[in-house]
Amino acid sequence: MIIVSSCLAGCECRYDGKSNEVPEIKQMVLENKAIALCPEELGGLSTPRIPCEIVLKENERKIIGQDQKDYTQEFSKGAETFSNVAKALNVKVVILKANSPSCGYGNIYDGSFTGTLTKGNGFTAELLSKQGIQIKNEYNFKE
Ligand code: SF4
Repeated sequence: MIIVSSCLAGCECRYDGKSNEVPEIKQMVLENKAIALCPEELGGLSTPRIPCEIVLKENERKIIGQDQKDYTQEFSKGAETFSNVAKALNVKVVILKANSPSCGYGNIYDGSFTGTLTKGNGFTAELLSKQGIQIKNEYNFKE
């Protein structure tokens, strides 16, 4: 079993209430080859929600919304719940949405809300990578 970001499977769970549907990934879920999870919804956030990015504050990674509020607790809770499901299902591979502050792996938005990318991992991707799970995204999942 693998886990995919819900928005890649066509769920309208993005911050703006839209999806990032990739038909092949949606098909994997429909055929019960994958399950879809959205860490931000698992963390208790509603959809739509305030866009958030990761910023470094006093050497700690925090999740700050465009409203300047701190959503670190919700993003951490979502990452832990996602990670617990992955452990329970003995998942070895996930397909996560690129660049997201939860799901992004390798690159994330830089905290300036200008669409600029920087090196780093989203909260969920970071936790899963520490568990030794292989992380793919919507661009390289066929490799
Ligand atoms: Fe998609 Fe992940 Fe953002 Fe949820 S948290 S909308 S699954 S990128």
